[in-house]
Amino acid sequence: MSALEEIRALEAVDAFAPRHIAPSEAEIAEMLRVVGAASLEDLSAKTVPAAIRGMDLSALPPAATEQEVLAELRGLAARNRADIKSLIGLGYHGTHTPPVILRNVLENPGWYTAYTPYQAEIAQGRLEALVNFQTMVCDLAGLPVANASLLDEGTAVAEAMHLAHAATREKSHLLIAADDLHPQSKAVLATRAAPLGIEVRFVAVAEIVAALTAAKPFALVLQYPGTTGQVRDLTAEIAAVQAGGGLAIVAADPLSLCLLKPPGEMGADVVVGSTQRFGVPMGYGGPHAAYMAVKDAHKRLMPGRLVGVSVDAAGAPAMRLALQTREQHIRREKATSNICTAQVLLAVMAGMYAVWHGPEGLRRIARRVHLMARAVAGAARAAGFAVRHDAFFDTVAVEAGAKADALLAAALKRGFNLARHGGGVVGIALDETVTREDLAALAAALAEAGGAAATLDAVHGGIPAALARTSAFCTAAVFTAHHSEHGMLRYLKSLEDKDVALNRSMIPLGSCTMKLNATAEMIPVTLPGFGAIHPFAPVDQAQGYRVMIDRLADWLCRITGFAAVSLQPNAGSQGEYAGLLAIRGWHLSRGDTHRDICLIPSSAHGTNPASAVMAGMKVVVVGCDRDGNVDVDDLKAKAEQHAANLAALMVTYPSTHGVFEASIREICALIHEKGGKVYMDGANMNAQVGLTSPASIGADVCHLNLHKTFCIPHGGGGPGVGPIGVTADLAPFLPGHPLVDCGGAKDIVVSAAPWGSASILPISYAYIRMMGAEGLTRATQVAILSANYLAKRLEAHFPVLYRGMNGMVAHECILDCRGFQQGGGVLVEDIAKRLQDYGFHAPTMSWPVAGTLMVEPTESEPKSELDRFVDAMVSIRAEIRAVEQGRMDKADNPLKNAPHTAAEIAADAWTHPYTREEAAFPLPFVKARKYWPPVKRVDNVYGDRNLVCSCAPLEAYAQQQQIAAE
Ligand SMILES: *Cc1c(COP(=O)(O)O)cnc(C)c1O
Repeated sequence: MSALEEIRALEAVDAFAPRHIAPSEAEIAEMLRVVGAASLEDLSAKTVPAAIRGMDLSALPPAATEQEVLAELRGLAARNRADIKSLIGLGYHGTHTPPVILRNVLENPGWYTAYTPYQAEIAQGRLEALVNFQTMVCDLAGLPVANASLLDEGTAVAEAMHLAHAATREKSHLLIAADDLHPQSKAVLATRAAPLGIEVRFVAVAEIVAALTAAKPFALVLQYPGTTGQVRDLTAEIAAVQAGGGLAIVAADPLSLCLLKPPGEMGADVVVGSTQRFGVPMGYGGPHAAYMAVKDAHKRLMPGRLVGVSVDAAGAPAMRLALQTREQHIRREKATSNICTAQVLLAVMAGMYAVWHGPEGLRRIARRVHLMARAVAGAARAAGFAVRHDAFFDTVAVEAGAKADALLAAALKRGFNLARHGGGVVGIALDETVTREDLAALAAALAEAGGAAATLDAVHGGIPAALARTSAFCTAAVFTAHHSEHGMLRYLKSLEDKDVALNRSMIPLGSCTMKLNATAEMIPVTLPGFGAIHPFAPVDQAQGYRVMIDRLADWLCRITGFAAVSLQPNAGSQGEYAGLLAIRGWHLSRGDTHRDICLIPSSAHGTNPASAVMAGMKVVVVGCDRDGNVDVDDLKAKAEQHAANLAALMVTYPSTHGVFEASIREICALIHEKGGKVYMDGANMNAQVGLTSPASIGADVCHLNLHKTFCIPHGGGGPGVGPIGVTADLAPFLPGHPLVDCGGAKDIVVSAAPWGSASILPISYAYIRMMGAEGLTRATQVAILSANYLAKRLEAHFPVLYRGMNGMVAHECILDCRGFQQGGGVLVEDIAKRLQDYGFHAPTMSWPVAGTLMVEPTESEPKSELDRFVDAMVSIRAEIRAVEQGRMDKADNPLKNAPHTAAEIAADAWTHPYTREEAAFPLPFVKARKYWPPVKRVDNVYGDRNLVCSCAPLEAYAQQQQIAAE
């Protein structure tokens, strides 16, 4: 061996795959022995049906080390022109992420690796952060109820349309929108309206009241300030639409609302917008948290997650997700929306931005931005330009006419992108990152283009007195309590400590693939070269992004076997919607306007039927057989019955029951024979990568959840990315964009930004690049091994509900807990809550089968952690047996009383028939890493009956406690 060869061999030890795939060779051998397979290959052969096995990933680049990939991504980031400031506006603005939030939230696995807060007791920290967000939104918008959160401003406008359509009982199908709505919001709105038969009419601002008198739309959508910056009183238009029985929806910039009269005070029913400029980098389009606030009457129709304050079993206030009964996992095709993964991490950041700055700080930032805009307007006039609007907040619309190109060029030469609006108008949107030096440079650009000297001394325009905000906002104590950095640091830490995230223990959530989010994958996300890029910046300034996006899309094509991939959808649900729109577009292009039936197995995720309805389809449910497979006979009968109108089948593979169905090819062929297309829900791709693919099973479209299989962290409930892959004939119907050429169809736009949440794509890029073809395949094999290992070790204690060939499960397994109710009255919920005392997040509870737990360990859990989880489950089974056998009281036992708080364990009084030690330290390992749930079991029903979604009750309780102590 030459020295160089030896050096290379030594370097190979630094491969990433063995760090991502946690079990060692020896442990894998031991696990294989337990499951009864000779090798990983043998296990794959026993698990994945032969008809669909076989994949060639040799076209993927070879595996790179962490250092190589970091260098590669730094190089790509450097090719993005973060040195040019984008003053384009249109809903995206420069912002300073407060460093204390950057490092302790965005870059902190305690926050970014958490799951959606379904298990409320172990999520009180992020739930409190989200209540802060909701309170901030309510105050700024001037409305009583807000959610946390929506995917982006464009889709938030569209969600508001759905809400209004439902709230007015669909009496009208006409929606009127101001033509100064952001162009990308217009495009998303039009896309969403079409399949539902809703007509969207864009009307010039001056003609809105007349249009409302002539027609009675179910809703009016306004932008505040308008897309070119105009601030105007919306009261008359709001009153006019309401007089006709419609709802008034206002899309509003939250920073402007610090100085402007809030839309709620003008009578608006729904206010939506993006909180991006509250400390979240533009990131070439996302992710950012959009918001929605509504009048009280509409809260039950609100899309997305709503955090409410309830009480725990000891009567203390405790938060949890409210009104879950509205959502798609319960109401399916009648759900209020298909949103599942939202933008929790970004909502936490925006809420914390308000906590950090407080009302005074926010007002100061807004005033400074506003004054800069007035100075720029003055300079524009001095340079000889007219400005289109005298009333504005942060955006100056310069009437540049024939000099528009010259002005854009003069600005670019000085390092600024401005917005090119129609009719020779150039927009200059000021933001908090603009400096006094920048202002001088902007004045110089205006002077050069205008041909006259321009000073910043004579300010022009501003906010009319009647539209100035007079009401207070962010008055809750939390917004003034943490303004020193030490105080803020400790507040963030105190919330983080209340929660269970992946940096504490495994989160074995079936279907959600809570695998490792490696640090090396996260580092590129906060490089300025990725963060500071405006989504509508000129293409030549985003070359690094374009190269990364093209490569990632190509790799995902190889992995799925498809011809084309779109990265635009912001979550799996949005991918479903986009994929179904592609199928719809294809049918329409062939004149098959009548094909609108979508077959969906009863075991499907709730987002599937909800998405199908949004895409204008009618859902026909197909049953499942006793083994958890799609009932092929029922499918045949329904496909036959609806053959003439069949649009699509939506199928999850491997199934949501955790099995590789052997008949999948037959099923797909049957649908094709009847003229339909097959949509595969790719949430379970972690069981396919490298072994088989959506294309090989016969699917035409599939979405991937990059936040499941491809390592984007869950963020406590978002962000996500839900790209779709399609066959060549569907490629022309992939999403496009009105402002940026990203391929696809210009009239199919599912996100506000062309590549959706572009700034988190480096995570999946890094993962694929570091794993290489072999690593990716091995990850799948070990994920399947880990699930089978858990199934084998637990099967003597909990019945494993469904299995595929050779008695094997895929990458997850369902533990049946229904049998415990009869003997001891123990419910699956009791087991889930008891796991918290052991320091674990419960597996997926009661989905897809009520009364069960679905366990997905993933390839990146060490065997020692799997064994601890098994020990905990076996110990819990022993506790259940004690109740069943009457050795433990049926009502007063550690399961029913779980979780146990530190306060309860340390209290002088202890009345239970089991010991404190049994309650808090049921196994030796628990002592070594004890997690204390901060509250007892949360009462869901109480909170829904007494719906409160702001900080007020928390603060009142804290005060009470204080008084009681004194
Ligand atoms: C997670 C999941 C979805 C929804 O994806 P989101 O990214 O949360 O919108 C859909 N189907 C299945 C089977 C899932 O597990």
